[in-house]
Amino acid sequence: MPPVEARAWVEVDLLALEANLALLRARARGEVIPVLKADAYGHGALPLARFLCQRGARRVAVAAVGEGRTLRRGGVEGEVLLLGSLHPLEAEEALRWNLVPSLSTLEAARALAARARALGLTPRAHLKVDTGMRRVGFPWEEAGEALRAVEALGVRVEGVYTHLATAGEDAAFVEVQRRRFQRVREALGEGYFYHLENSYGLLLHGGENVRVGLALYGLVPGFGLRPILRLLARPTLVKRLRPGDRVGYGGEYVARGGEWLATLPVGYADGLPRGAVRHVRGPGGELLPLAGRISMDQTTVLLPGPLPLEAVFEVLSPDFGPTGLLAWAEARGTIPYEVVVHLSRRLPRVYR
Ligand code: PLP
Repeated sequence: MPPVEARAWVEVDLLALEANLALLRARARGEVIPVLKADAYGHGALPLARFLCQRGARRVAVAAVGEGRTLRRGGVEGEVLLLGSLHPLEAEEALRWNLVPSLSTLEAARALAARARALGLTPRAHLKVDTGMRRVGFPWEEAGEALRAVEALGVRVEGVYTHLATAGEDAAFVEVQRRRFQRVREALGEGYFYHLENSYGLLLHGGENVRVGLALYGLVPGFGLRPILRLLARPTLVKRLRPGDRVGYGGEYVARGGEWLATLPVGYADGLPRGAVRHVRGPGGELLPLAGRISMDQTTVLLPGPLPLEAVFEVLSPDFGPTGLLAWAEARGTIPYEVVVHLSRRLPRVYR
């Protein structure tokens, strides 16, 4: 086993990813676009992009130009769609790396057209349409006008899309957005690639061409999807506590005496939400309670007995149980997206 996996590492199960992809493809009537922004929600964008392209993904989506550049530098050749609205100052970089930007403004479209002319390249883009979220996109009532203005600049608009504000929260508003998008589609005609739903949009309402992140990573319970990521660690120390020993910052855990303690080399700097993680799983899958507070780089766990330093603990499990990511997020009072993107880059990613 390479030394990099000695202390603590994240394991990503590519077969589970493939199974999730197949499940989502079976639900969508059109194309499933994997969303690989934020380093594929912490799973590692480059290895996942390579894998998904081998498994038939025609295009992948990221948020920022820099993320697209990372994929290109890593040899990804398929289409890379930038979901973040293009800033005029990014136009040249997007063109140089053959990334397909999303346009929310005419300023960005003008910059894209001008830089493309200067470089002798064809400017391509997707038009972002605001059907109700109000952050980005051309207002849906003006989509036709916007499209004509962008195309008049010489930009080849290949796709048109919108984003749902309330998927999984407010089905009635999802319907409002879908109807608005349908009106846009009817007005613009069929010469474009239209895409709409995200994970909850697809799973709860169905969809044609969809952009999915959370569901691809299996972080949605109840649809046969499986989380694909585990965080594993070996203890750097195992010892027996004496009566009255106080463990960690604040000395919060006070030993009765005789307990066995393991120190795992992962902490809140690795993305463990402090105060929200209460257990890890031992080498046999048993639930073990933490002793005291999580530190920046270390976490202390109570054991039923001594264990060797080679023992592997599952700090984060690929399931929906008490050591799964959803339990962490819930205990932290946040969404799984926020927790998973904060798994530290210093944890090596291992793909199996
Ligand atoms: N489409 C856009 C424009 C997004 O910003 C995102 C992520 O937030 C997605 C699709 C994927 O969303 P989800 O992870 O909920 O599937």
